[in-house]
Amino acid sequence: MGEIFVVAEHRQERLRDITVQMLGKADKLCRELSHTLTAVLIGGKDVPFVNELAGRADRVIFVEDERLRNFDPDQYKGILNNLIHERGPRIIMMGHTAWGMDLAPALAVMSGWPVASDCVDILVEDGDLKVIRQIYNGKVFSKVSFRQSKGYLITVRAGAFPVNEPGSHHGEVERLPIPLDLPETRREFLEFAESETGEVDITQSEFLVSVGRGIGEGENIAEIKELADLMGGQISCSRPVVDKNWLPKYHQVGTSGKTVRPKVYFALGISGAFQHVAGIGGAGTIIAVNKDKKAPIFRVADYAVVDDLFRIVTALKERFS
Ligand SMILES: Cc1cc2nc3c(=O)[nH]c(=O)nc-3n(C[C@H](O)[C@H](O)[C@H](O)COP(=O)(O)OP(=O)(O)OC[C@H]3O[C@@H](n4cnc5c(N)ncnc54)[C@H](O)[C@@H]3O)c2cc1C
Repeated sequence: MGEIFVVAEHRQERLRDITVQMLGKADKLCRELSHTLTAVLIGGKDVPFVNELAGRADRVIFVEDERLRNFDPDQYKGILNNLIHERGPRIIMMGHTAWGMDLAPALAVMSGWPVASDCVDILVEDGDLKVIRQIYNGKVFSKVSFRQSKGYLITVRAGAFPVNEPGSHHGEVERLPIPLDLPETRREFLEFAESETGEVDITQSEFLVSVGRGIGEGENIAEIKELADLMGGQISCSRPVVDKNWLPKYHQVGTSGKTVRPKVYFALGISGAFQHVAGIGGAGTIIAVNKDKKAPIFRVADYAVVDDLFRIVTALKERFS
């Protein structure tokens, strides 16, 4: 029986979503492979989410020291490399984030293990581990196998897996001191600079008017925004709308965007890909407008309008003006 390690990512005393996403996927893999699941937490004293990790894993290895409160790649990779040698896990999962992009290649060199980066899925086929990665700017999915190795390193794309409800594990927490042979740190933590946050928090909205690629052009956003204002809603969108820079990222709904729970979700020109629909499972009533009567969004919609969205928008604007 092997072990899967998930490196728990945290920032400013909070567990990051990517950690919970990885733990959910790792839990499924553990069941398929008859492995055990260990969350590896490297952090400062008394972090408030140890119990949450214990609820999602069979074990938490907590390397606890004030000097580790903030991410320091030199020290973190020294600790992980020691754990690789002492515990010999079969798989180590990390986020494809600033942490994982720093740690995974270095650990691959230190351990000699193969690394697969930016994976959107992980599978077991005939007992062999495979990963799915996107190539050609996301147009093609490639299935990748590893050369035989004692262990494998995988970085996981944020949003590739859902954030599950609280776990049902009662993992034991094993506290370890900081190893004595760690390299000297070459960095000094100065301060956190928060990235720009949106003016709108769509997770708190009761009524969302959501637009997809079906609006055709970025300049059409203004018309949808007008409608949202008239109807007392806020505007949200699918991922291509963000990729095309028609709206900022904080409007995006879905696995790599926000999970929303409005009373009404009004979807305009959104096809209903699973990565989008995963973000609206908690919505009260879903009304979808799409000119394609076979659009998958209609499978989850309470009301389906098969029509050109601009006709509907014009009619509603007249009605609410
Ligand atoms: C790892 C990963 C994470 C992802 N995360 C997300 C995510 O968080 N959120 C997300 O949304 N997507 C996400 N995606 C992308 C997702 O797979 C889909 O590509 C995306 O949701 C499609 O967006 P869309 O529905 O706006 O566009 P399309 O799929 O192009 O659909 C456009 C729709 O508009 C309709 N339409 C066109 N013109 C009109 C008109 N005039 N009137 C009415 N209907 C019209 C069409 O019939 C079509 O159904 C992710 C993908 C990956 C691989």
